[in-house]
Amino acid sequence: MIQLYIPLNFLGVIYREIKQALTDMDRMFSLLDTDKEVADIPNAKPLQIANHGRGPDVRFEHVSFHYDQKREILRDVSFNIPAGTITAVVGRSGAGKSTLARLLFRFYDVQSGQILIDGQNIIQVTQTSLRKAIGIVPQDTVLFNDTIGYNIAYGNPNASIEEIHEAARAAQIDGFIKRLPDGYDTQVGERGLKLSGGEKQRVAIARTLLKKPAMLIFDEATSALDSKTERAFQEELLGLAKNRTTLIIAHRLSTIIHADQILVMERGQIVERGTHAELLTANSHYTEMWQMQERAILD
Ligand code: ADP
Ligand code: MG
Repeated sequence: MIQLYIPLNFLGVIYREIKQALTDMDRMFSLLDTDKEVADIPNAKPLQIANHGRGPDVRFEHVSFHYDQKREILRDVSFNIPAGTITAVVGRSGAGKSTLARLLFRFYDVQSGQILIDGQNIIQVTQTSLRKAIGIVPQDTVLFNDTIGYNIAYGNPNASIEEIHEAARAAQIDGFIKRLPDGYDTQVGERGLKLSGGEKQRVAIARTLLKKPAMLIFDEATSALDSKTERAFQEELLGLAKNRTTLIIAHRLSTIIHADQILVMERGQIVERGTHAELLTANSHYTEMWQMQERAILD
């Protein structure tokens, strides 16, 4: 069990920030029980995943959502991620992409419509079971002042050394760790070795993989990686996504070419959907986004 020495009133203040960063803090939430915006209904049942070796079917049905009354953020969003497939979401900053992930993890409840996982409305299942089923790799990762091994194992406190190393290999950070003076026992974080954004992201990826969730969410999770590491990781990702349901919120379009489905979001709505090949043929927002990215690379 992790020890927290932070005063509780201070936690209230940073709670929103943490939530916003979508960090993998589900265990911490349950320890602190500060999650007041959503609550289990009486007699909430654990989420049942029909086939763990494949991942659940995920469905958004006519979902509308706002953080505050004045501004609708998602408007009538419907899509389906069939079990074991990859759906990518692209779109401008502020379009509502991360909000999809936050709603799926049930940091907030939808105002209308519903989110179903294997046919179960997520409002009706226990938060503990829901969050256990989902692993999120956030854009900004919080590291604990502890060893790098501990930081990876945080996703699964019962993990063996072999499993920790395997997750680190899959996240492309094993080689880096081995070259550190104390290897997996190297202290990291504020009071230890400072890791770069890309290294922290890879720790987060390893942490999430170790959790072995039925569903994976990457929220711009490879944005801080250099393109060579990103390519290497991408090959791993395709393997990892094989037996789970995966949602990738993408920064670089080149990372989502192989997705089974791509959703293009604009101002809280899905404006286009299809495979890479389907979307590129049309005179689409998607094609325009590709042209913009290519120009940015050439500039
Ligand atoms: P994206 O991930 O596509 O960049 P987000 O889903 O994070 O977009 O945000 C969608 C919109 O919701 C943005 O305009 C953002 O400013 C707003 N928003 C995000 N979080 C909050 C919040 N906690 N309270 C109010 N507005 C928010
Ligand atoms: Mg976002």
